[in-house]
Amino acid sequence: MDIATHALIGTATAAGLFQTQPALAVGLVLGNVAPDLDALSRVAGKHAFLRFHQTYTHSAGAIATVLAVAVGLLMAGIPVWGELAIGLVVGMAMHVGLDLANSYGVKCLWPFSQKRFALDWIFFIDAFIVGLCFVTLVAQCLCQTDKNLLRWSSIIFVTALMLYVGLRSVIAGRAKRLVNSASNQRGPISIIPTTWSPFRFLVCRQQNGLADTFTLDARSGLETEGEVIAILDENVPETVTQCREWQVMRSLSAFFFCLEIDSNAEGETYTFRDLRIRNFRTKFGKLTCQLDNRGVIQRKTWDV
Ligand SMILES: [Zn+2]
Repeated sequence: MDIATHALIGTATAAGLFQTQPALAVGLVLGNVAPDLDALSRVAGKHAFLRFHQTYTHSAGAIATVLAVAVGLLMAGIPVWGELAIGLVVGMAMHVGLDLANSYGVKCLWPFSQKRFALDWIFFIDAFIVGLCFVTLVAQCLCQTDKNLLRWSSIIFVTALMLYVGLRSVIAGRAKRLVNSASNQRGPISIIPTTWSPFRFLVCRQQNGLADTFTLDARSGLETEGEVIAILDENVPETVTQCREWQVMRSLSAFFFCLEIDSNAEGETYTFRDLRIRNFRTKFGKLTCQLDNRGVIQRKTWDV
């Protein structure tokens, strides 16, 4: 999820559940936000951002380390800091769990595995979750003097959030079954959830050198906004596939393809896009390589 949604979730949870344990409450809110501080790696450049974002700070290794510190603080008789660290552990686990339900990919098993995992249940900005957070926080502001009501608001919030995530897993499973049963060929398929409707998915299916993209309604199975795009990867020279940007993008997405080749007197320009990511017409990952007539890369643009 985006960092603002994580912060709202942490606040709506902590406000009612830990009214008398401020250290635990602060730790829980910080834990819900802290893993995304890895986005600061963007300062060191695009490569650093792609290498660090949703990796080490979103992992079992990081959570276990903070848990060890928490146990150490509690055993050393420093309960306030110990409680803060326990809150951090719970908040981080909530953060990683929700990011895992998105599509970007999380190295949640690091250091045991370098693989990025993504369940593709919920898009990283989700209208229902943001709405649920706002309604809960407004209700909590209105009933802040009634401790019992405040506690129930957080219990209902956490229960509703867990039920929603569970429901989204069922809907995503149905979307996968619908797409698989409609495909007579077994090529790679990507099914990405969207922001506004839990039933709308962006599908990309690769077969016979073509990318078949469409929008799927997981209730009716209706496929709309279909477009068949030619994959031009076979015409891409090695100079391009050996460049660092191409290799990073291909390692992140099996649906990162060359979709456009422009030739003119000065040389050729190759344009690549990740066809999984089409929500909001984002250009994330778009790479353009301009080669001269000798086949040497003269210019590269990369949207990250
Ligand atoms: Zn995150």
